[in-house]
Amino acid sequence: MEDRLSRRTFFGVTGGAAVAAALPSPALPLRPGGAARAAAVSSENGLRAVTRAMELVAGGTDTLDAAVEGVKIQELDPADNSVGYGGLPNEDGVVQLDASCMHGPTRRAGAVAGLEGIKTPSEVARLVLKYTDHILLVGEGAKRFALSYGFREEELLTPESRQLWLTWRANRGNDDDWLNVPENERLVARPTGTINLNVVNSRGDVSSVTTTSGLAWKIPGRVGDSPLVGAGQYTDNDIGAAGSTGRGEAVIMVCGGFLTVEHMRRGMAPTDACLETLKRVLRATPPRLLLPDGRPSFNLNFYAVNKRGDSGAASFFPGRYAAHDGKAGTLRDTAHLYQRSS
Ligand code: ASP
Repeated sequence: MEDRLSRRTFFGVTGGAAVAAALPSPALPLRPGGAARAAAVSSENGLRAVTRAMELVAGGTDTLDAAVEGVKIQELDPADNSVGYGGLPNEDGVVQLDASCMHGPTRRAGAVAGLEGIKTPSEVARLVLKYTDHILLVGEGAKRFALSYGFREEELLTPESRQLWLTWRANRGNDDDWLNVPENERLVARPTGTINLNVVNSRGDVSSVTTTSGLAWKIPGRVGDSPLVGAGQYTDNDIGAAGSTGRGEAVIMVCGGFLTVEHMRRGMAPTDACLETLKRVLRATPPRLLLPDGRPSFNLNFYAVNKRGDSGAASFFPGRYAAHDGKAGTLRDTAHLYQRSS
């Protein structure tokens, strides 16, 4: 049904000719014969996700539903400590989850941030998209929203993730009352991780999802790029979709998901678009996060698929990503800007 009121308001305020001139460039042309190739691209932990999503898309499932079903495998996997159940907690030992999604055909978005006690934030983000006139719900409100749909509140720490947190808490400094744990039990890295999944079907309809437990040991309440539409993921059904994993603050500074889709709009292939966004991140990186030779002291990954079904990924340093071309899901090497991180 046509929305008469908003159409009239729109043209009344802006004027038809000016609007026509300002409309975005046309959709990316499909393959000869007007078809796309179904495809999915994801972070390295997403091999099962791309495979599941493509099975579903082949059977006619909507691309957003397929993407959510794909990332849920990682959200529910206690062994993936970067996402959902088993995700590493904040500095208080509380798991706070972030997720966002976009549905190309309806041009809608939904997201949750700082969600506690719910294993699958991607599903809650999709509910925000489908059943509210809002885009982002946070914290207690997001949890109450989820509970109202029948989600169960659960402990998200696994014995293993609790142990990692306890080790971190004991070893983080010498000026506290915690005794250090032995060297061989020490957690040295600050783990990051997330899953981003972008899916296109054979009609060229596109969707994207990103879900994460965020940076391990983050300040309570810290929200990264993953639940921010345009940063951790973005879809434009005329062009394609893109998303990211890695240091979220760097992605937010350049609106990384959106920017990568815009690079594709201007004709770049997905891999080149990801590389171009990484170069923009470098230009926005403060000196305290650069090594003496100018390389960044953190890693970042972008993943993209266009409406035609071409996909690619790039990172600062060599890495891998999961892709499915409609025939098989494989892990591939990312394009990268630097050979090594140290
Ligand atoms: N991008 C996520 C965040 O900043 C973390 C990650 O991908 O490792 O919350």
